[in-house]
Amino acid sequence: MTAPTPLPVVIIGGGFSGAMLAARLAERGQASVLIERQGEAGPGLAYSTVQDAHRLNVRAGRMSAMADRPQDFIDWLTTHHPDQADPNGFAPRRLYGHYLRERLAAVERACPGLIQRVSGEATAVEGCAALLSEGRRISGRAVVLATGNPAPRTTPKGQSSRILSDPWAVGALAPIQPDDAVLILGAGLTMVDVVLALDAQGWRGQALALSRRGLLPRAHGPHHDAPVALPTDALEGPLSRRLSVARRLAATHGWRGVMEGYRPITAALWRAATTKERARFLRHLRPWWDVHRHRIAPQVEARLNALIADHRLTVRAARIRDVSASAEAVTAALDPHTDRTPRTVAAAWLIDCTGPGHDPAATPLTAALIAEGQARLDPLKLGLDLDETGRVLRADGTPDPDLYVLGPPARAAFWETIAVPDIRQRIEALTDVLTA
Ligand SMILES: Cc1cc2nc3c(=O)[nH]c(=O)nc-3n(C[C@H](O)[C@H](O)[C@H](O)COP(=O)(O)OP(=O)(O)OC[C@H]3O[C@@H](n4cnc5c(N)ncnc54)[C@H](O)[C@@H]3O)c2cc1C
Repeated sequence: MTAPTPLPVVIIGGGFSGAMLAARLAERGQASVLIERQGEAGPGLAYSTVQDAHRLNVRAGRMSAMADRPQDFIDWLTTHHPDQADPNGFAPRRLYGHYLRERLAAVERACPGLIQRVSGEATAVEGCAALLSEGRRISGRAVVLATGNPAPRTTPKGQSSRILSDPWAVGALAPIQPDDAVLILGAGLTMVDVVLALDAQGWRGQALALSRRGLLPRAHGPHHDAPVALPTDALEGPLSRRLSVARRLAATHGWRGVMEGYRPITAALWRAATTKERARFLRHLRPWWDVHRHRIAPQVEARLNALIADHRLTVRAARIRDVSASAEAVTAALDPHTDRTPRTVAAAWLIDCTGPGHDPAATPLTAALIAEGQARLDPLKLGLDLDETGRVLRADGTPDPDLYVLGPPARAAFWETIAVPDIRQRIEALTDVLTA
């Protein structure tokens, strides 16, 4: 008698998280069904760009898709793009997208039949099954939500054609003419990507980027910074004391090394923190944490600085109170309390670069789970509430044994689960759980 074929794991979302989980599961003999609604599985949102100006924001040497083969991406670059194979460098993100596609295809060849790709949008989860919009039901032994971040929600979609509420949408920046003035909401990584994309399409106009604090992402140094060993009083006790210890260390050893020191233990510190401590961190420290932790490539910083020096990019702290748009222009009224710019600013376009949304209730898939009590928001509304293995907690606080979240939407449980080095650790942990 042959052994029954084990049921597959149903993975919703075929970006880095879902595709590389499918690959890891296959390498361990576990079948999966990989459901992706947009194009080919692998690159996802971050690595689908076609612009060479869009660089990795993590050094190539740390971007292997697999935790147990740290050289894998560099080896791939050495074979296919030797001019980019510097482990210390920041290769174009589109090359990383090719790498992920090929990595998935290579595992499919090596483990035939263990990854089933499905094109379609999952609109609901029922027990261990995903329901697709066209009516199909895909059942397995567990479901993993690897759906990436929900779309931004700051500016209402469809309000005016002059308001570009989703800068990631294909062709979103195409209507912007070379001399158009642009108003950008947000000054983080999304703003950086958008300005570089405009620059690459021959735009010569001026951009004003507004964010509450007017902070720009910091850049990586010339080399990887060795992690600074953090003493106990940087890790335990009142947050204000930890912060002053971290500042003191940064003044002595450099802030990048201190951030590297926190990197491997961030998820553990987050899990150990009380809800009150997490709330304090989010209220007071988050903007500074984000700009120091999620850094840009030095060549990207150099281009931004050149645009700033040419007065083509201005970054200001301001709150937008109101936006009105006509057929030709957008006008934003700014909050005078926090603003050093004029009280109103006008531009040909407003681009929402406030970054990805966080609200699981904004997507039908997770909204339905919350409405039915199959899931709940975490107390700080960062995302779905999860246990320490990434299992979804139901409304009554019990974990659903068969429903997991992977990637950026798992931030409520792990905080830093955005970049490849963090997600690939989560993929290993989840693979262990799902193949146990
Ligand atoms: C612009 C940008 C640049 C980045 N650069 C870097 C970098 O250089 N280095 C780094 O380490 N990290 C970077 N990151 C972080 C990035 O979050 C991770 O590296 C990683 O790409 C996250 O992948 P993901 O699969 O979790 O999410 P996504 O890439 O968003 O993929 C989710 C996928 O799920 C699909 N999906 C969603 N809902 C459904 C549904 N209901 N049914 C079917 N399919 C669905 C989507 O179509 C999408 O393809 C970047 C992020 C962004 C946004």
